[in-house]
Amino acid sequence: MYQIRLQNLPSEERSTLRQRLAVWAEERGGSLVDVQEGAETLYMKGVADDATHLLRAWNGIQSVVAEKASGHESLDRLPSVVEVKAARFGGGSASCVAGPCAVEDFDSLLALAEQLASSGATGLRGGAFKPRTSPYGFQGLGEPGLEMLSAAGNATGLAVVTEVLDIRDLDLVAKHADVLQIGSRNMTNAPLLQEVGRAGLPILLKRGMSATLEEFLFAAEYVALGGAPSILLCERGLRHFDPAVRNVLDLAAVPALKLRTGLPVIVDPSHGTGVAKLVPDMMLAAAAAGADGFLVEVHPNPAASWSDADQALPMDIFSATLPRVAHVLEACERNLHGFSATTRAAKPKI
Ligand code: PEP
Ligand code: MN
Repeated sequence: MYQIRLQNLPSEERSTLRQRLAVWAEERGGSLVDVQEGAETLYMKGVADDATHLLRAWNGIQSVVAEKASGHESLDRLPSVVEVKAARFGGGSASCVAGPCAVEDFDSLLALAEQLASSGATGLRGGAFKPRTSPYGFQGLGEPGLEMLSAAGNATGLAVVTEVLDIRDLDLVAKHADVLQIGSRNMTNAPLLQEVGRAGLPILLKRGMSATLEEFLFAAEYVALGGAPSILLCERGLRHFDPAVRNVLDLAAVPALKLRTGLPVIVDPSHGTGVAKLVPDMMLAAAAAGADGFLVEVHPNPAASWSDADQALPMDIFSATLPRVAHVLEACERNLHGFSATTRAAKPKI
């Protein structure tokens, strides 16, 4: 079975192309699957396996993928280095995106962002639309939270990373963000994955909490096929049986994903463990495993955080950890992007 995606064509041209494809398939002993007239995605079955490269040359066809043979081809055309404002992911650079779980108020967000920037972070995270497990938990400030994020990003030069939870908010979130995050709970939300690319921003895609790497890469393909210019894959821990940690951080996923795609892979040790005391060591381990970046929850007063208080790092621990991370990256012949001589403390003992 081949999946054939047509370009955005006027309906007459689309229907002519569909007829030509049907004839072409029949001549080869196959047929088109009878999807709705006017559909942009067609399926062809029963033809021999040279269809992919033959059909890719046709005018009006955007992509052709053989279902069984998918090697995640649509990811191959995406960049392996993603640069956004002060941040650079891939190509030997790792960047740290840090900030609160959720945006709470502007003054503390701005003060935190300034400290993060001077410690060597290059991105600012924070949710304005929060995917909370309980409907009674804090759901985020919404639009005012986005405005606070973009103001703090503009004041510090940090790249703003924030979640788009619902496709209806895409334009609003895209107006304030530099990178759009798709959360773990939405990794299988195909309509959202397909639409989010139209904002033209890099997408930070989090692995579903019980997704295989194959499922994760297919989710990334939905995003790529929707036109996203670049994708950052994010490992954030897997659901399991032991309440000692919130999730099991699958660090083997970092090199395993890199064997399969050229996309940058980043690691979230905060949701990946749920325990603040474990986060620094998991950042070091992620750096050694080949991570191209880190997504870390930092809060000015973790105990008072409105969400995910147990996993938030206080600023002093975060800023003491970055030189250690830079040191591990250097040992692996890579660098912590934006971590300059001015932010560098004395060479740390790891
Ligand atoms: C987050 O990073 O804000 C978040 C909610 O994470 P996850 O989707 O991985 O649970
Ligand atoms: Mn959180």
